[in-house]
Amino acid sequence: MLARSMTVQSRTYDYIVVGAGSAGCVLAARLTEDLRTRVLLLEAGGAGGAKEIRIPAAFSKLFKTAVDWNYATEPEPHLYNRRLYWPRGKVVGGSSAINAMIYVRGNRADYDSWRELGNTGWGFAEVLPYFKKSENQERGASEFHGVGGPVNVADPRYVNPLTRAFLAAAEEIGIAGNPDFNGEVQDGAALYQVTQKNGARWSAADGFLLPARGRSNLTLITGAHATRVLMEKKRAVGVAFLRDGVADQARADGEVILSGGTVNSPQLLLQSGIGPADELKAVGISAIHDLPGVGKNLQDHPMVSVGYFCTQKISLDGAETLGNFLRWLLWKNGPLASNVAEAGLFLRTRVGLTVPDLQLLFGPAYYRGHGLVRRKEHCFGFGPTLITPESRGEISLRSANPLDAPAIRANYLATVADLRTMIAGVRLARRLAHAKAFDAFRGEELHPGAAQESDAEISNFLRNELETLYHPVGTCQMGNDALAVVDARLRVHGIEKLRVVDASIMPRVPAGNTNAPVIMIAEKAADMIRAGA
Ligand SMILES: Cc1cc2nc3c(=O)[nH]c(=O)nc-3n(C[C@H](O)[C@H](O)[C@H](O)COP(=O)(O)OP(=O)(O)OC[C@H]3O[C@@H](n4cnc5c(N)ncnc54)[C@H](O)[C@@H]3O)c2cc1C
Repeated sequence: MLARSMTVQSRTYDYIVVGAGSAGCVLAARLTEDLRTRVLLLEAGGAGGAKEIRIPAAFSKLFKTAVDWNYATEPEPHLYNRRLYWPRGKVVGGSSAINAMIYVRGNRADYDSWRELGNTGWGFAEVLPYFKKSENQERGASEFHGVGGPVNVADPRYVNPLTRAFLAAAEEIGIAGNPDFNGEVQDGAALYQVTQKNGARWSAADGFLLPARGRSNLTLITGAHATRVLMEKKRAVGVAFLRDGVADQARADGEVILSGGTVNSPQLLLQSGIGPADELKAVGISAIHDLPGVGKNLQDHPMVSVGYFCTQKISLDGAETLGNFLRWLLWKNGPLASNVAEAGLFLRTRVGLTVPDLQLLFGPAYYRGHGLVRRKEHCFGFGPTLITPESRGEISLRSANPLDAPAIRANYLATVADLRTMIAGVRLARRLAHAKAFDAFRGEELHPGAAQESDAEISNFLRNELETLYHPVGTCQMGNDALAVVDARLRVHGIEKLRVVDASIMPRVPAGNTNAPVIMIAEKAADMIRAGA
């Protein structure tokens, strides 16, 4: 565990990094490899000692606790005005300390599309070395994988029999097995590889920050909520923050780097007077720099849970026992080593698609309402997820108070194509559930319920039940057009000495999970910063 805060040795640093999440941990570790470089890392959350962070199967127990920003969207117009809960990590390690640990990079075409949008250096061939650099792939090195890096990528230590049935069901309905979602092709079904080491979560803090924490040139302050970037004209010179509620500030001779994530980085830019001038004026902030794209281009992967009763008592729903806890504690295996979403598949729902538009997760457990709703019966469920969304939302300020949560409008299911893919996903889940492989386990369909058959009924179910798969990106997008916030070196357009390095810079959400891509982005950013580029 990290010490709660390390002593502040000086008030001026070369770099101030805001946010010790997936990206911030990488930056702090890589930039301080040069012992002459002084880095201050500010983290609003705490050091993160909870056992639920370490125990893989316990991740949903972290929701709505002190390690979670506990956001909610505005009423979603296409989801019957429901407000959706959005967990985000508020702790050293950020969302990598509360996530589901799936190690998936997306499709190579995602990164090629970033390059095609004018972002030189971000094509797949150029980012692959950074994925590999960050990785310690337990299967060994290959064309697509690295060893010796800080992110430990492991095959699961525990696989539930229902998950084996899922893989058999996929094969039965003609979906081929894929030995590596991060290899040559993405399509197919497989067990997920996970960011775990020896059966415990391995967050970005474990991999990057812990090994660097003894360096005298790295200062970490926890409980430090950044409220504003300090500006001199159009140059960033430092950060104002509240440290355990008390106002403080630090200066950066080199750069200020925002790594607060997709919700908080645009919020901090806006609070600092960098964003759409008219919107800033409306909340009483005068614009230092009119940058219309800040907070726009919000994209996320929506997911819905299609659930079944299980006729045998073998799911993870009965896993929370003292015996299993001791088993995990002593040997780091058994059901508590499960990341719950143990397997999945990638699939194209329509002929003519060049890449998968659907990821379907499988969990040998009841997972509805983010795992916060519990049942006493054993269940299993499928999570069809749209991974190439057309819908775009935005993040904006509610007020000039930096402690007020920003307004989040995800705008899920705003297009017919998005809805169509999700309907196909629900139907696919049912086909899998009705494969022979599940005959020994399949009980009644819990949700949507077997009677809900037509497209209209499934649409209604989706609008009532759709949730986030926790992959929001894009609110400080990289590019050169009118809505771009950072350039291909992740420098904020029109402002000196200020970068954004986190999930918010993605121009398009990758067709897969987002933790590995964020770590890749930060690895590449650290290289660019160290090279003075
Ligand atoms: C519940 C959940 C499950 C997920 N499952 C997976 C998965 O299985 N696989 C996968 O690949 N991805 C998953 N993700 C997504 C992935 O974890 C994120 O995309 C990734 O961690 C984002 O990295 P980031 O650096 O952009 O932001 P974060 O990791 O969220 O880090 C931002 C950090 O900045 C801090 N911060 C924010 N504002 C301030 C401020 N003003 N002052 C100081 N500090 C601040 C935050 O407290 C946080 O520590 C999941 C996410 C969640 C929430």
